[in-house]
Amino acid sequence: MNKKIAVFPGSFDPFTVGHQSLIERGLKIFDEIVVAIGVNSEKKSFFDIETRKKWIDELFSEEPRVKADVFSSLTVDFCKKVGADFILRGLRTSADFEFERQIGQMNKNLYENIETVFLLTSTEYTYISSSIVREIIKYKADISKFVPEIIAKHIEELRISNQ
Ligand code: ADP
Repeated sequence: MNKKIAVFPGSFDPFTVGHQSLIERGLKIFDEIVVAIGVNSEKKSFFDIETRKKWIDELFSEEPRVKADVFSSLTVDFCKKVGADFILRGLRTSADFEFERQIGQMNKNLYENIETVFLLTSTEYTYISSSIVREIIKYKADISKFVPEIIAKHIEELRISNQ
């Protein structure tokens, strides 16, 4: 049987414990998850894209079923490239749903073979978003509860070297 491969696309700027939880749950459904970090030419990122990838690689270095990659194409074209039939996305709120519905239906239209699988976010992580984490970093407050430990360590190191 074909391996069930899912692409988990996003900006991951930075990667949070909410993202981590979604991947861990996704691994119960899929054989392999490719964390696909999208290049957004219209938005300036907070962390450099290669740095974001490096941190995710390090976080999952003991989990061969999770890989990270950078992409700058349509998500469905990236899915074709890596042989994924599924897109994994999280739903936090009803606003997420409306946004995701449109993208999911568009992706299906662009590539008939693709199925988007939505997981409701775990209640303890629903309030966590990369944008809120970025705000906390800007005000130099503690982010250790919101991002995986090794990523918090790297962010702290960057903060010290930029001082
Ligand atoms: P995007 O800007 O494309 O939404 P993000 O990096 O913010 O990219 O999110 C990537 C994916 O992770 C999305 O499907 C989003 O719903 C999911 N996600 C974001 N925050 C959480 C969270 N706290 N818990 C679970 N999933 C989350």
